[in-house]
Amino acid sequence: MLKHNFSAGPCILPQEVFKKAAAAVLNFNDLSILEISHRSKDFVSVMEKAQSLALEHLGLTGKGYKALFLGGGASMQFLMVAYNLLEKKAAYLNTGTWADKAIKEAKMFGEVIEVASSKADNYNHIPKGYVIPEDVDYFHFQTNNTIFGTQMQYTPDVSVPLICDMSSDIFSRQRDFEKYDLIYAGAQKNMGPAGTTLIVVKEDILGKVSRQIPSMLDYRTHISKDSMFNTPPVFPIYVSMLTLEWLKENGGIDAIEKLNNQKAALIYNEIDRNELFNGFVKEKEDRSAMNATFVLNDSAHTAAFDAMWKEAGINGLNGHRSVGGYRASMYNALTLESVQTLVDVMQQLEKNA
Ligand SMILES: *Cc1c(COP(=O)(O)O)cnc(C)c1O
Repeated sequence: MLKHNFSAGPCILPQEVFKKAAAAVLNFNDLSILEISHRSKDFVSVMEKAQSLALEHLGLTGKGYKALFLGGGASMQFLMVAYNLLEKKAAYLNTGTWADKAIKEAKMFGEVIEVASSKADNYNHIPKGYVIPEDVDYFHFQTNNTIFGTQMQYTPDVSVPLICDMSSDIFSRQRDFEKYDLIYAGAQKNMGPAGTTLIVVKEDILGKVSRQIPSMLDYRTHISKDSMFNTPPVFPIYVSMLTLEWLKENGGIDAIEKLNNQKAALIYNEIDRNELFNGFVKEKEDRSAMNATFVLNDSAHTAAFDAMWKEAGINGLNGHRSVGGYRASMYNALTLESVQTLVDVMQQLEKNA
């Protein structure tokens, strides 16, 4: 039986993508995708397609942005951002574990102003009413906090470069992408397998810091070589390209956003209605459409609930250790039927209780 995969990442991808990726391992123009040269015409066109689809989905084609697919994960971007852009001081919003890690890296390069933090409340909300100073090199934040299940619903208005980690909600909904100067996202949350990170960067923000930057960590190196300065993660980029094609064939971000909103409404309505459960995120406007975090009010039901969702073919529902309870990650490829299966189990638990 195919599982309903609610895993937080690496995550579910479309079945069609798995089929095409598997076929390409065996035969990609008479070789395996795993053995072709990254400099071959066939792979160069995969890279170009992946880059152009990424920009197209975000509505950023022809607007001074470059799309890169690099190794090192989103965590590498925590330091690359600061290395390339932090001259004196930068402002960060602390909304979760990943934001905290980004702040720690940035502090090695300059002064970090934490404009607000929800750390004292175990990140169960997005801070409000903070002020972003105008004399900083950039403002950095996360749109979606994968571990805690909060999501920023708006784009902050700033006069400084806007830098954003969109690892867990990129391509899931529309935003004012043109307001951003650098967006990065690890592929494994909503775009592809682990092993590559998408960076979309406006070229004119680069080259302004006085320090020397090692070649591999300098965005300009990778821009000048079209993500081919060294051997890129060929297979993860290929699979990301397939997923971006799948998204386009299925109506792009506009269409997937509608489906993602339906999935989120279905699970949150049940969390609110069912008295056995409680949502982790207190304010409705902060709830993530990608990762819904919730707990059982009475741990006496834990064993029964765990057995029931596993029996229903659900995978990956356990919450992160820093939150506990449950986390339903509902990335683009997860169907409404999978969410309905989970809701059915929650209702059955209530009937049995
Ligand atoms: C998972 C995640 C990361 C870390 O990604 P890696 O690719 O494992 O380095 C960073 N930011 C967010 C929002 C994430 O969800």
